[in-house]
Amino acid sequence: MIIVFVGAPGSGKGTHARRTAERCGFSHVSTGDLLRDAVDKDTPLGRKAHEFMAAGKLVPDEIMMDLIGGLLDGSDGGEGIIFDGFPRTLAQAEGMDELLEGRGLKVDKALLVDISEDEAVERLALRVSCPKCGAVHNLASNPPKVEGVCDECGGKLEVRPDDREETVRARFKEFRRLTEPVIDYYRSQGTLASVSTSGPVEEVAANVAAALDACGGSPNESSAG
Ligand code: ATP
Ligand code: MG
Repeated sequence: MIIVFVGAPGSGKGTHARRTAERCGFSHVSTGDLLRDAVDKDTPLGRKAHEFMAAGKLVPDEIMMDLIGGLLDGSDGGEGIIFDGFPRTLAQAEGMDELLEGRGLKVDKALLVDISEDEAVERLALRVSCPKCGAVHNLASNPPKVEGVCDECGGKLEVRPDDREETVRARFKEFRRLTEPVIDYYRSQGTLASVSTSGPVEEVAANVAAALDACGGSPNESSAG
């Protein structure tokens, strides 16, 4: 089972992709987390990606396709994979289909994690993230138990450099210009489901599970929440 989560910055796709992966026993692949880890470790990939990320731009498709190709080479797909933040351009979506087809796999479901831009910007302004494990907290709706400390791994919470307001605006521009066509792509393939992520996280999680028919599900457009 291959599921992709598509959504604007701050939409909550990371939160819900993680939870879904845990609930369903699937692996969770967040390209944003993989890239941030590469930047932190100053690997060749991190050195290539760093400037694009800091400017709120997408990392070029060739680099992303190499990353995903390598990842699929090292995996048999297992029970299932949830992709969070990939594909983000039409070229990535088409490239992914080719890579999967060669392995007898396909994207079974694309979930649009939908939110208004105003609400997303508001959330990002209150977001702190754990660079160690990728967990996120919202200072208003989901504050950490101990200030500045990640509930999940005890790491030190930080404001992501690309969550500053100017960079958030650039990320939204990239989303509208490059990622919205990906939504149309999956809609035309009949694999798209969508879920509104405004509202409390538990309620959204239930809507996500319903939209995915628990862990996979019906391939026609559906909407919950
Ligand atoms: P959020 O963390 O709220 O979901 P986001 O979607 O902007 O916000 P990430 O998915 O963590 O954040 O990605 C952070 C940055 O990493 C992006 O702005 C981009 O520079 C780079 N990136 C991640 N995935 C891709 C991708 N598939 N193609 C190109 N660049 C990517
Ligand atoms: Mg994310």
